[in-house]
Order: sequence, then C-alpha cells, then structure tokens
Amino acid sequence: MTNSCGRNVECAQVARLAVYFVLLLGTQAAAQQSAARSSSQTTLVKASRLLDPRTGNILAPAAVLIEGEKIKQIGKPSQITVPSGTKIIDLGSATLLPGLIDSHTHLFLDIIIPPELEQQRHLNGLFAPGMLLAVIESPSKRVLMGAQLAREDLESGFTTVRNLGHSGIDGDTELRDAITAGRVPGPRLLASGRKLITRGSYVQELNPALADAILQQEFLLIDGADQARQAVRRNAFQNVDVIKVTADQNLTVTELTAVVEEAHREHLKVAVHAADKISIQTAIDAGSDSIEHGNDATDEQLKQMRDKGIFLDLTPTFNDLFYLKISEPLIFMSPDSRAAAVSRNSTRKQTYDQLVQRVMKSGVRFAVGSDMCWFYPGKTRGQATAATIIKMRDAGVPPLEVIRAVTVTAAEMLGWQDRIGAIDPGKFADLIAVAGDPVADIHELERVRFVMKGGTVIRNDLASESRSSTSLREEVSK
Ligand SMILES: [Zn+2]
Repeated sequence: MTNSCGRNVECAQVARLAVYFVLLLGTQAAAQQSAARSSSQTTLVKASRLLDPRTGNILAPAAVLIEGEKIKQIGKPSQITVPSGTKIIDLGSATLLPGLIDSHTHLFLDIIIPPELEQQRHLNGLFAPGMLLAVIESPSKRVLMGAQLAREDLESGFTTVRNLGHSGIDGDTELRDAITAGRVPGPRLLASGRKLITRGSYVQELNPALADAILQQEFLLIDGADQARQAVRRNAFQNVDVIKVTADQNLTVTELTAVVEEAHREHLKVAVHAADKISIQTAIDAGSDSIEHGNDATDEQLKQMRDKGIFLDLTPTFNDLFYLKISEPLIFMSPDSRAAAVSRNSTRKQTYDQLVQRVMKSGVRFAVGSDMCWFYPGKTRGQATAATIIKMRDAGVPPLEVIRAVTVTAAEMLGWQDRIGAIDPGKFADLIAVAGDPVADIHELERVRFVMKGGTVIRNDLASESRSSTSLREEVSK
C-alpha cells in the first residue's frame, strides 16, 4: 500500500466520520424534536362508547385525553378539561377498547403446509420443513419479513405482541429495538430470543455433520441444570424480555427449575410450551410463570396452576378446521386425506372445547395467544391473528372473557399491567375502536377500524380523512 493510497484511505475515513456525525446529529435533533412534540401534544379521542374489559362496564359517551404517549384522563366529554391546542379525534358511534395483546406469536415464521406426499414420505414432520427453510434462509430476509408481519399485526389492532421463539439468534430483539427507535412501524414487542429445548424436540434426523450448526441458529440446548442456567444467561446477554422453554417429556424438573431460578434472578418471566400431561406437570413443579398451550391439562393440574398463580396461555390455533383452511387453497389433498383431516378436527374440537370449559370452571387465569406461524391464504398476519383468537368464542368462551384474555389478563401475564391492557390514566395510549358492539359480536375484533399506539394514530377508517397504510408508509419514509 503506498503513502498516497494510505492518505486517501485516511481522507475517506475522515469524510465518512464527518458524514456519520452530521447524520448522527441530524438523527438526534429529529428524535429530540419528535420527543418534544410528542411529550407536549395533547389529543382527545371521543367515541359513543368505551368498554372496560375488567368489568364489562360501558362508559357512554366517552372521551380519552392523551398527553404524549400516555393517557391522562378518561370520562364523559363534559367531565374533561381540554387544554387549548388539543387535537380532537371524533370516532362517532364507535366503541373504544384497550389495544389488543397477542401473547404468543411467531413473527419470523410464515410456514406453508407441505404437500400431502411430502408429509407422508418425509419423517421429520409437519412443522419441520417450513421451520428448516426459515433457518437456512438469509437472516436479513427473515427479519424483513418479521417487520412486515409485525406491521400487519399492529394495523389489525395488536398494539403489543410477545414473540416466543423461532426468530434466529437476534431477529426479535433487533426488530423490537427498531420498532422502539421508530425505524419501522410495529407493536410493542416482547422478544424471547432463542427457545430453550432439550435435544430431540421439534426436529430430528438432521444431517449429523450439520445438525448442531442448524440447531444453534434457532435454539439453545438444555442438557443438565448448568447448561440450562447458561442458556438463560446467553439470552439475557441478548437483552430478551422473556425466556421461552419447550418442555418435552425428557426435560427434567431440576433442569427447568434451574431455568426459572436464573430467569427470575434476571427479572425475566418464563413461558413454557407444554402440551402433554407430563410436560405440564414439569412446568408446574418448576414454578413457571405461564404454560403455553396446556392442551392435556387435567383438572388437578389446573387447580395446581391456579393455586400457584401460573397463567395458562391458550392457543386455539388448530381448532375449527384451521388446518384445512390454510392448506386446501395451496396444496393438492386427496379425498381420503381430506376426510381424515375433517374427522381428526371433530375429535380435536370436542377435546378442546371440554378443556376450555374445565379451564373456565377451574378459576385458573388464562390469556389467549394466536401461535400464528402459518401463511394464511387471503389474510394479512394481523387478520389471521384476529381470526384465530376469536375462535375461543366457538370453544365456548363468552366474548367479554375473550376480550379480557387479550387485554387485561394478557398484560398481567406479561408483567406489564402497569403500562398496557386497560384504558387508565398513566398507561400507554394504546387504543382501538370497532364500529359495532364487540360483546354482542366478537367478530368485530376482525374489523378493527381505529388503532392508536402510544398516542400515535396508526389507522383511522372512521374519520373523514382516513389514513391508509400508504400514508403510514409515507410517514415512516419521512
Ligand atoms: Zn408457539
């Protein structure tokens, strides 16, 4: 390398640094301006009705005064002192509710059910091909898809989501930070980082020469209590918001207890995937914070969960012919296979409906998560999430209880009850509105017409100058 070339390199470095600092100062100034604007801006949202999911009470007419990102006051419009310069948003005859919370999602998966023949002839299961494809794809491509699905969830009224794994090493923590920094639109995001699993879960029979490298992209392996603690520390280093563990029957109580102790030391809650009876008991005995799915829970186990304050996160994903809805438009299905799917569905639905009845009787606190990781033909991710969650109604949960599960109870399960889940002074101004009465017709949650996150309007189909997703994109690009 010559001297002049070296000087050129130095010059280029100085120029790059100068550009960097100018950009940095510009970004800081813009951020400060927007913070100053948002902290002083007051907005009044008015609507005919406001539903409090905790009690089912309706405030009518209703007004919510917002200062910056937070709710300042709620009441009838006549009771609120509106400071001068307040922006008024009148939603007419709509019903206001707290922003929705999807407590179990997978924003970095968009799985297409594999064709029938592939399912029959490949041994590693229904889930594995789509998941393995996600692991070997470029992480950049994957995180951009995650950003799209996050935006679609927000546009459908999900102002907070908890992403429980399958996001590569740092996809969900990076997306969370990008959303927080205002780089991309999306819900408040709780990120779990990599899932903790025992060897043998999910994917099997991988190429032995590559298996560890593949698994490390998606999972942290538990093999003994020490490794379990290390896995939690690695995720804590990645600055996760929650620890996700998949409890298979081979996970021991000692290992899971080590996870829970270490996570609690880091002030992180532990969400445990447990579907069968043995795994559910392991999750209960280890003192997990929530049990995800819980399909085979016995009455005795539900009682233990209630007594220990463990939340159940119900995921009605496969109830009500979901499998046929997402696979039929995409793949050839033989008449035999279709008939088998319909018959499986009716048995599954009966069992699930009974579980839901037992859960409601038991007094265990439950939230509802979509567990969406599928490509749902004809729906955005947000629409698919809403369609899945309201299936709890078909399983016998009254609409108000469904709404409670995806607002106030979900907030408590996440440990965020001080900031989201209800329309209260001091909480974030995360609000949605629907045109009708969601307690009379839960399908209103599929037709969310107004979304506000932290005092910023994301969508308003009720105002005369309604904002489209195009205008949202324009705003982000500014
Ligand atoms: Zn899941």
